[in-house]
Amino acid sequence: MKVAVIGGGASGIMCAIFLAKNGQDVVLLEKNSSLGKKLLITGKGRCNVTNNTTGEEFLKNVVRGAKFLISSENKFNSSCTMQFFEDLGVKLKIERGKRVFPESDRAQTILDALILALKQQKVKVRLNCNVQDVLVKDGKATGIVVNNNEELFDAVVLATGGLSYKTTGSTGDGYVFAKKLGHKITELRPALNGIKILNGETAGLEGLSLKNVKIRAKNNKKCIYESEIGEMLFTHVGISGPIVLTASSFINREDVKVIEIDFKPALSVEFLQNKINNIIKENGAKRVSSLIGSLLPKTMAEMFINKLNISKDTLINQLSKETRQKICTLLKNYPLTYGGVEDVMFSVITSGGVDLSEVSPKDMQSKLISGLFIIGELLDIDALTGGFNLQIAFSTAVACASSKFFIGEN
Ligand SMILES: Cc1cc2nc3c(=O)[nH]c(=O)nc-3n(C[C@H](O)[C@H](O)[C@H](O)COP(=O)(O)OP(=O)(O)OC[C@H]3O[C@@H](n4cnc5c(N)ncnc54)[C@H](O)[C@@H]3O)c2cc1C
Repeated sequence: MKVAVIGGGASGIMCAIFLAKNGQDVVLLEKNSSLGKKLLITGKGRCNVTNNTTGEEFLKNVVRGAKFLISSENKFNSSCTMQFFEDLGVKLKIERGKRVFPESDRAQTILDALILALKQQKVKVRLNCNVQDVLVKDGKATGIVVNNNEELFDAVVLATGGLSYKTTGSTGDGYVFAKKLGHKITELRPALNGIKILNGETAGLEGLSLKNVKIRAKNNKKCIYESEIGEMLFTHVGISGPIVLTASSFINREDVKVIEIDFKPALSVEFLQNKINNIIKENGAKRVSSLIGSLLPKTMAEMFINKLNISKDTLINQLSKETRQKICTLLKNYPLTYGGVEDVMFSVITSGGVDLSEVSPKDMQSKLISGLFIIGELLDIDALTGGFNLQIAFSTAVACASSKFFIGEN
């Protein structure tokens, strides 16, 4: 069969390779002058290509679409991804959190291997090729429009990616195509991104990182999300870092009002109260700035003391019971006014996409249009950091390429 794969990113390249391996006549169309531009910036240029975990553990890291992924992840899991690259001569290594990287620490190594496989499978690659539309007749995908010309194909794979980092070519074209063809697109939201904090509440703290802290996202009434204990940092617009990126994926559709930092997640309020009382007993002539400075990074101390409405020179044996209590409360629940997740342009992943109820989880074929396949980030699936998102791109790509549609059993 003649198959057009639109998008030369992680999912499109992998799909084209496996389609060709399975005997199809494949054309891979990429709007950029080179393939895999986004792939090259993954993992800070090192490409965290997958995560050395499969099954339940893998799915636990999928925020949206885990159930949908069961079948494709079974078919082509992270072990398959690792084997695939090793067979192409790529040496891999496993780091913290089972993250898999090329031993070279260069994303280019992964892209080179994919390009080698495209060549080995004789996939026709057309660069600088901006696909403008997908053609459908009588409920079947029949081709595409490129340079205002109609080109006929037996099947079309949409692999155009999400909305973030537009300069890599991921400008959301696939959402437009899919919508035009009758697919529902669920709300597109930024995920794995920083969080904005309002009212200049974090001004002056840019660059400061905090280890072993927790954050909670709250609306007026209740806690919506609580992070694990981990690392965060302050940015010029708010907060970021590992626990914040993860939080953003869970709260990006929620009515959050406040983000609270728990500076001492391993200690209870009572423990902190006793600790502070003991310090006061032992050295009551200390200033409050020195007390807070011993509990928090110095750059945070001033901001913290401002919240207490007392002078930083107050001696700690002059602190009222209420102020001491407030110190403990703030150490456990330091409030910041939530200003939303940062713009999707700069998010690692786009959450939302083609509604999964309209796509077959077995082979990624549209349930609305025969011969139309939708793979990768374009689907309403997103996962946490750790190599899971690229694995999703690969699993959905291979599931598509193995569809019975291509071997004439449909
Ligand atoms: C900064 C950053 C770091 C990341 N790091 C990691 C990581 O280390 N590990 C991980 O697992 N995930 C990571 N991700 C996520 C990962 O990059 C994506 O999950 C993955 O690239 C999605 O693959 P895709 O093929 O669906 O889309 P993309 O990789 O975005 O590819 C889509 C391709 O389609 C092309 N295209 C779009 N429209 C058209 C059109 N009309 N005609 C022709 N071509 C078109 C685009 O130019 C692009 O090349 C990272 C993302 C970012 C932004």
